[in-house]
Amino acid sequence: MCQCRFNHRNRFTKQAVFRCPHCKKTLEKIKERKEYNIYKCKNNACPFYQANLRRMTKKERQQFQQDPQAFKVRYLFREFLFDFLPLASSSLIKPKVDLSRLAASPHVLGLVLTYYVNFGMSSRETAAAMKDIHGVSISHQTVLNYANSVALWIKPFVDRFPYELSGSFCGDETYIRVKGRWHYLFFMFDAVKKIVLSYRVSPNRDTLSAIKAIDDVLRKLASLPDDLSFVVDGNPIYLLAQHFFAQHGISFDVRQVIGLTNEDPVSEEFRPLKQIIERFNRTFKGNYRPTHGFGAEEGSVSFVTLFVAYFNFLRPHSALEGRVPVVIPELADLPHMPARWTKLIAMAQAFLQQEAA
Ligand SMILES: [Zn+2]
Ligand SMILES: [Zn+2]
Repeated sequence: MCQCRFNHRNRFTKQAVFRCPHCKKTLEKIKERKEYNIYKCKNNACPFYQANLRRMTKKERQQFQQDPQAFKVRYLFREFLFDFLPLASSSLIKPKVDLSRLAASPHVLGLVLTYYVNFGMSSRETAAAMKDIHGVSISHQTVLNYANSVALWIKPFVDRFPYELSGSFCGDETYIRVKGRWHYLFFMFDAVKKIVLSYRVSPNRDTLSAIKAIDDVLRKLASLPDDLSFVVDGNPIYLLAQHFFAQHGISFDVRQVIGLTNEDPVSEEFRPLKQIIERFNRTFKGNYRPTHGFGAEEGSVSFVTLFVAYFNFLRPHSALEGRVPVVIPELADLPHMPARWTKLIAMAQAFLQQEAA
């Protein structure tokens, strides 16, 4: 049963009482943190406590006499202090952009996206390439406008595409510059299929961001597999997120792997995951130059959305023997990348019309 109290800031807060599931005694609040409170069962007769005491070796029992705080033997409960329901249905947001109003031919749009997203060129470099290589005069602001418009159109397709997924996922955070400040990009991908499933930008590296990232993955699964697992770095926010979902009856393994994001070596098992994480780091952090910083929240979200569309549907992946993670035959048959971008946009529009019908 769910033991959480949402809307903790409402007037019922003072009346919220948490009881130990093992002995039914009232739990005592022992810690207040920014994101959660910790409650403890202090009843010496609690069966949970008694069972843990019995399980101790003789040596452990001696240590316990000396330093009882070093042992976690009493029942603990975390009350998370934010309003979030797992797997809540989200309203379908329809983009307010009309692509037919863009004063560009589909091929020009496809070229711009190829330079800007696939090749990671800045908006100014893209505008220069369009002029110097193709003789098309557009401003760098127009490049950004195109990117924002296409991102809005393509996001529902990227987010709600019926992906075929494994039960193994991997996530990490990387930095991204928004309005002159560093933000975190939380991303999650299928560790087997190499499909990116969550890509949220947050000003904080906090538990709620980790919860939302995991929720983005869970809501794409038709049913929750028994062997559901997440490979992440050593950040405790993922363990807290695991606690949060467990309180809502959703359980999964969290494997914390040190070295996913730094110079430390990782075992062969995790090397393909590390490669994807490094690719994201290169794209969003390593490539950072003043022109790559985003002037507004929308700009960074747009670029990340387009990059994920490229990553899932257009970019051949070495760990998949040169296949793109999601193979769409209509795209594969096309002769070049600008044509694939154009087709992907058309498919995203058809997808929206289908959803609306
Ligand atoms: Zn709850
Ligand atoms: Zn108890």
